[in-house]
Amino acid sequence: MSDSVGAALTQARALGLHRLDAQLLLGRQLQQTRAWLIAHEDAALSAEQQQAFLALCRRRADGEPLAYLLGEREFHGLMLQVGPEVLVPRPDTETLVDWALQLLATPLACAPEVADLGTGSGAIALALKHRHPTARVCAVEVSAPALGLARANGTHHRLQIEWHLGDWWQPLAGRRFHLVASNPPYVAGDDPHLAALRHEPAPALTPGGDGLSALAHIVRGAPAHLHDGGWLLLEHGHEQANAVCRLLADAGFTAVQTRADLAGRPRCSGGRWTALR
Ligand code: GLN
Repeated sequence: MSDSVGAALTQARALGLHRLDAQLLLGRQLQQTRAWLIAHEDAALSAEQQQAFLALCRRRADGEPLAYLLGEREFHGLMLQVGPEVLVPRPDTETLVDWALQLLATPLACAPEVADLGTGSGAIALALKHRHPTARVCAVEVSAPALGLARANGTHHRLQIEWHLGDWWQPLAGRRFHLVASNPPYVAGDDPHLAALRHEPAPALTPGGDGLSALAHIVRGAPAHLHDGGWLLLEHGHEQANAVCRLLADAGFTAVQTRADLAGRPRCSGGRWTALR
C-alpha cells in the first residue's frame, strides 16, 4: 500500500504525535524541509518510506525523545549529534552557558582555562569554545560512548576541546581553572518525573537519594581546582537552589548567587573562589 505525504501525517496525528514532531520526522526521512511537506501533501510515499515513518512515529508516541529519533538537537546555536548515550541538551542549560560567557567577558591576563564536568554530548564545552574561542576548554565525561559522541561533535564543528574520560575531577588532578561549569545528575532517585525520562541515560539524570550527591562532590573538589577568583557554576533542580547555595557557602565560596532558567525557575547557582582572605 502506498500513500501520500498528507495521509502519512494524518496517520501520525492519529498515533498521538504533535504536528511539528510528525513533520520533522517525515522531513528527516524524505530529506525535505517542512515547507516542502506543506506544499507537497499529495506527493507519494513508497511503502518502505511509509512503514519506516510510522515505526518512528510509534517510538515517538512511546516517549522516545524527538532528538534521538532525529539524531540531533540544537544547543546555543550549535547543531549537536545526540543519541541515547547522552542526555538531550536542554534550553535550561543555555542559562548556565550564558552566565559563563558573561564571566568570560571580563578579560584576564591569559587565555581563560575552563572545564565542563560531565559533558555528555559536549554541549556546554562546545558552546563555550564556540562563543569564546580564546578559552582553553577541558571536558570530562565518565561514559566512554558519551565521550565518543562529544568528540565527534567537536570534530564536526572544528572546535578544539581537551576531552578526558573519567569521574568528575579525577582526570584533572593538579590542574586549576578560571571557570568550571557542570550540569551533573541532580534529579532525586524517587522523583516521579524520571518515568517520563526513561529513554535517557539514568546515570546522567540522577545520582539517587536526594539528588544532591554529585553536586556536593563537585563543590567539595572545586577549591583544589580553581584559580584565585575562579568561578564554579552548577545547574540544579528548581527546588535545590538553597541547598546548592549552602554547599557553596559552607565550602568557602563568595558572591554565591542563583540564576533562573527560561521558565523563571531557579536553575543554576555559583560562586567565586577566593584563595586568600
Ligand atoms: N533538567 C533535566 C530534567 O529534569 C535533568 C538534567 C540533569 O539531571 N542534569 O529533565
